[in-house]
Amino acid sequence: MTLTDLTLGAAREGLRAREFTARELTLAHLRAIEALNPRLNAYITVMHDRALDQADAADAALARREAGPLAGIPLAIKDLFCTEGTRTTAGSRILGPFVPPYESSVTTNLLRDGAVFLGKANLDEFAMGSSNITSAYGPVENPWQRAGDTEAKLVPGGSSGGSAAAVAGRLALGSTGTDTGGSIRQPASFCGIPGMKPTYGRCSRWGIVAFASSLDQAGPFARTVEDCAILLRSMAGHDPKDSTSVDRPVPDYEAACRRGVKGLRIGIPREYHVDGMPAEIEALWERGKAWLREVGAELVDVSLPHTKYGLATYYIVAPAECSSNLARYDGVRFGMRENGEDLRDLYERTRAAGFGAEVKRRILIGTYVLSAGYYDAYYLRAQKVRALILKDFTEAFARVDALLTPTTPSAAFAQGENMDDPVKMYLNDVFTVPASMAGVPGMSVPAGLDAQGLPLGLQVIGRPFDEETVFAVSAALERAADFSARPALRAEG
Ligand code: GLN
Repeated sequence: MTLTDLTLGAAREGLRAREFTARELTLAHLRAIEALNPRLNAYITVMHDRALDQADAADAALARREAGPLAGIPLAIKDLFCTEGTRTTAGSRILGPFVPPYESSVTTNLLRDGAVFLGKANLDEFAMGSSNITSAYGPVENPWQRAGDTEAKLVPGGSSGGSAAAVAGRLALGSTGTDTGGSIRQPASFCGIPGMKPTYGRCSRWGIVAFASSLDQAGPFARTVEDCAILLRSMAGHDPKDSTSVDRPVPDYEAACRRGVKGLRIGIPREYHVDGMPAEIEALWERGKAWLREVGAELVDVSLPHTKYGLATYYIVAPAECSSNLARYDGVRFGMRENGEDLRDLYERTRAAGFGAEVKRRILIGTYVLSAGYYDAYYLRAQKVRALILKDFTEAFARVDALLTPTTPSAAFAQGENMDDPVKMYLNDVFTVPASMAGVPGMSVPAGLDAQGLPLGLQVIGRPFDEETVFAVSAALERAADFSARPALRAEG
């Protein structure tokens, strides 16, 4: 048995049956990381000793039959979640030396349930990006390669690129990500694994380094839909420390995966047929529709007329919020400092040296759209259009139970491609951003390979707080797609 190749659910059973110990499972992953991380760069920090201590604690709890639902399950944690006593960089030089004195609420929940943290996963700087190229700790390589091409290094998507690559490359059984405009769903699609962005408010944002506070949401990656369901159940829940987290019971998402889709109405949004979309992605979408129809769902054409404004408004709202959130990195309170002649000089030198080019671009755009002369023309206008995008979804969900779309307009591209023009990079998010703007849940499911042998994902979008239907539809797609291909670069621990 290859321990690193197990699903999270199978590992849970194996641990309970004492077929192997949490320590063995963790060691297998640490060995896999040692072997493959130098190539993939999926982890910024490996938590070797802490992981083994947590594994031993899980073994003791398992022996006493007091184990939590994730006892002994080794995970990667996006390096945007604060981990007490372990460096948290947010992929930025400015937070390089930052060791949080507190644990984020989501990771606290995972630890409560017995999870083992293998390390902190690489990401685009402050979660801004779609390729993991903007990390100050170097790019992540996608474990997938184009058929017959071992030269080109592909991007894993972003911003949660390390979290997705670690799971696809068998360097973790599951991982946490965050999604502001697509940062879970897009890398999931590029790396051939499922990934779920829950409803805004489902998971606490407390202790997650903020990018755009009205959009940021935590969610899981794993190698099956059911494994994502298991993780989300532990991650989610009300938190008095985050006033935007919602006080609602957390349902049994795992059970929802087995519900089936008989009688469900699935909307196909007309506006997601964008110009220039590769025929392969259109074909994949068609296959997805046929699969759902075969298992008893009814397909309904719907219209989300404001989809075309999604990206434009996102790239006003997200930078606006980031320019405000990132004001706190001033060289005084967190992370690195460049000394200056006076306080202002210290701020300027620290921020000039600490932030990368993409982060600076966003701060500039955000400061501009919030400035006195332009606030009404850009920020306020964008917020109004955002309300219309939400209204589109609300109207569609009066008629259908979920929506089916492609996740991305392309498969993974190579490092260096799309880098010349930021707008080209932003276009990656065209299908993921609208659900973010509306705050509704969305999941990417691997559904097939393109002609180059690269994975492509389908996206399921649901009603607010109805992650259960999203899991039910995603699991049905997963069963039909029977996606069993594996990436070229993977650990055999
Ligand atoms: N790619 C998008 C951006 O760069 C989304 C990032 C995210 O979801 N964190 O903003």
